[in-house]
Amino acid sequence: METYQIDQEGYYGEFGGAYIPEILHCCVEELKEQYRQTLDSESFKAEFEQLLRDYVGRPSPLYLAKRLSEKYGCKIYLKREDLNHTGAHKINNAIGQALLARRMGKRRIIAETGAGQHGVAAATVCALMGMECIVYMGQTDVERQHVNVERMKMLGATVYPVTSGNKTLKDVTNEAIRDWCCHPADTYYLIGSTVGPHPYPDLVARLQSVISREIKAQLLSQEGRDYPDYLMACVGGGSNAAGTIYHYLDDERVRIVLAEAGGMGVDSGRTAATIHAGRLGVIHGSKTLVMQDGDGQILEPYSISAGLDYPGIGPMHANLAAKRRATVLAIDDNEALRAAFELTRLEGIIPALESAHALGALPKVHFRPDDVVVLTVSGRGDKDIQTYLSHPF
Ligand SMILES: *Cc1c(COP(=O)(O)O)cnc(C)c1O
Repeated sequence: METYQIDQEGYYGEFGGAYIPEILHCCVEELKEQYRQTLDSESFKAEFEQLLRDYVGRPSPLYLAKRLSEKYGCKIYLKREDLNHTGAHKINNAIGQALLARRMGKRRIIAETGAGQHGVAAATVCALMGMECIVYMGQTDVERQHVNVERMKMLGATVYPVTSGNKTLKDVTNEAIRDWCCHPADTYYLIGSTVGPHPYPDLVARLQSVISREIKAQLLSQEGRDYPDYLMACVGGGSNAAGTIYHYLDDERVRIVLAEAGGMGVDSGRTAATIHAGRLGVIHGSKTLVMQDGDGQILEPYSISAGLDYPGIGPMHANLAAKRRATVLAIDDNEALRAAFELTRLEGIIPALESAHALGALPKVHFRPDDVVVLTVSGRGDKDIQTYLSHPF
């Protein structure tokens, strides 16, 4: 049987691997040797699960959205990652990796962040565990995401604005890797999505897989069967989607629909829809689809949603799209905004702009009345209120 999980060499089909400078080889190798064993150990599982329960507030509810279901003529359940502590799914991964770092004897955490959501999650767990936290962030994003920067500082993190290049995420990644190269012995690089060199995509997918583990149990008790007909999620780097689909990857009864950020439209030049507009390349130490020009220069992505504004895509998702295991739809800014207002008015839930892209895919799928759909609401919309207010529907 075909598997969509990672292979022995760290690839999903032709995507993945570890394309890193020689100096980082031992750091990545050390992580590769330890992560599986640590994640599978009873002591790690006990500590991780306790924090997920008592600190994050898991399990997150699987909520049957009756009015939304009526609108789309099927049965739609929302997986409520927006109800987690700090307001999104990113905390699941940040806690898991901080526990791993501690077990590897590393006390200094570095992270890079675009929108600031991952930076806040990293700063939160570092406060919780008494670890040093350094967050690299582009100067442009420091200005755009002022509130998140203040949150990180209050949590005790040091925020380094990066002023090289375009001052956005890809320049920041280089800065973080440079730091890691200089402090390999005591530093752990906490990556926020299913991206980066192997083993990060698999590590992050496993830590987020709690989402689909819960979906299985919740569907069994609420629907009498442990699988849905459709799973839907938005994709930036791919971590909330990976968590949502992890335990269903090889279950072909379940259709997977992923939503990437179309921006102003996939052909407009102002997009972050990497699966539609990208070509094979290397980004962030991984071979995957990349938005690039004819010379292989990485293009600046655009989306109204800061969390989906990434010029690459996790290798798992690139493979799912290439093998047609997943349907990937590009949802543009307006479609996402409309969907955010729709959910707000129908269910009283203001979603994150990222999650609104998954909701924006609902009108594009032809459901049957008895279809069971699980859609992950990756985060809450509080951080996006300014954007919503200036684009009313
Ligand atoms: C960061 C973020 C995303 C995108 O990241 P993935 O790794 O693709 O999940 C989606 N939703 C929210 C709320 C986020 O903060």
